[in-house]
Amino acid sequence: MRILRNHKKNDWQKIFLIFFAAGILFAFGVNIVAASTSDKNSNTAVSVLLPKIQVVKGVVKKGNTASSLLKKYLPLKTIYEISRSSSDIFSLKCIRSGQPYKIILYEDHLVGFEYEINKKDRLVVQKEKDIFSINRVPIKYDVDLEVVSSIITSSLSEAVRKSGERNELAQKLSDIFAWDIDFIRDIQPGDRFKVLVEKKYRDGKLSGYGKIQAAFFTNNGTLFKAFLHKGINGVSKYYDANGKSLQKAFLKAPLVFSRISSKFTKRRRHPIFKEYRPHPGVDYAAPKGTPIKTVGDGVITEIGYNKGMGNYINIRHYNEYTTGYNHMSKFARGMKKNKKVLQGDVIGYVGQTGYATGPHLDFRMAKNGKLVDPLKNRPPLANPIKPDEMEAFIARTIELSTRILTARKPDVDNEKSS
Ligand SMILES: [Zn+2]
Repeated sequence: MRILRNHKKNDWQKIFLIFFAAGILFAFGVNIVAASTSDKNSNTAVSVLLPKIQVVKGVVKKGNTASSLLKKYLPLKTIYEISRSSSDIFSLKCIRSGQPYKIILYEDHLVGFEYEINKKDRLVVQKEKDIFSINRVPIKYDVDLEVVSSIITSSLSEAVRKSGERNELAQKLSDIFAWDIDFIRDIQPGDRFKVLVEKKYRDGKLSGYGKIQAAFFTNNGTLFKAFLHKGINGVSKYYDANGKSLQKAFLKAPLVFSRISSKFTKRRRHPIFKEYRPHPGVDYAAPKGTPIKTVGDGVITEIGYNKGMGNYINIRHYNEYTTGYNHMSKFARGMKKNKKVLQGDVIGYVGQTGYATGPHLDFRMAKNGKLVDPLKNRPPLANPIKPDEMEAFIARTIELSTRILTARKPDVDNEKSS
């Protein structure tokens, strides 16, 4: 026996087509028995598609192995050979319970075996004469571009569910606006969204989502727009209607905090020294141990301890900004001077070292060496749409906006009154 891998032809489908054609001719004279039976115990369904060709469909159960699925049809020796040959495409040892499979039989002999590796690919084993070919084949989906809209009463995920969609869509939507909207703290009842999203279907059933092409999100009366644009370099990113990147150089906040206990002021009564001093930063109250993230890419310029700030880290970013993180209980593992950090990396944990009345992060930001209010400085990434791509981008924003605004169903604006 020979085993072929990455064999291009889909042989059993050819066999199927031949028999299908033969069946049509045959049907003029004789009735074809086309039956479907279901075996409740084995969770498999056997469809007699045409005389002599059967497809056994099933779902891998706990404890199933490739051998246990195939031994009824193939000698163990052959199963091992297939298994060995397929290992660099997909190891049959890795079949997982819950995944669908198909066994294709011709005159009760196995001519094909298919297994869904994941949502993207399936393993296709085909036998023609004594040759097995083994291929990893992309699963085909029908992709529809659809408008989804809803109004928030409590949370984004609740609103997404209400529109009949899955939570995966809420995640995709919140990722797009993550630099502008805090989807836990900023969301208000009455906030609304309309998105133009690729929905992937398989056999008529929703299987998942592709990319959101455009999204409108109204938060507390402010409309945020996002358009997906693929640059000449092939990278797709989201931009606002003016072609500015939605991705900001800095995160909205360096941590998940419970409240802002002190804002940036020129004068405030110091809680320990009981005298009026400027507070050139933002204090975020949060439980001890809460992870602190660097708000942007950069390099650690200072790390250490002093009497006032306790454990602190200063980071220089690749624009004219620096940021400082004070009163930490401890630093994250591996933090040291000159270490490069990426936006969102955990650099330390909330504490109350130095002069602090409770656990909090004292966060500071300086622009060209001068302390500024972090809540008012949100520098964008320096990569807007390139001038020579602008015309095409504007045309696309108009097309996508029109699709979103003219979508008939469901209409968010009528939802309240209905
Ligand atoms: Zn402070």
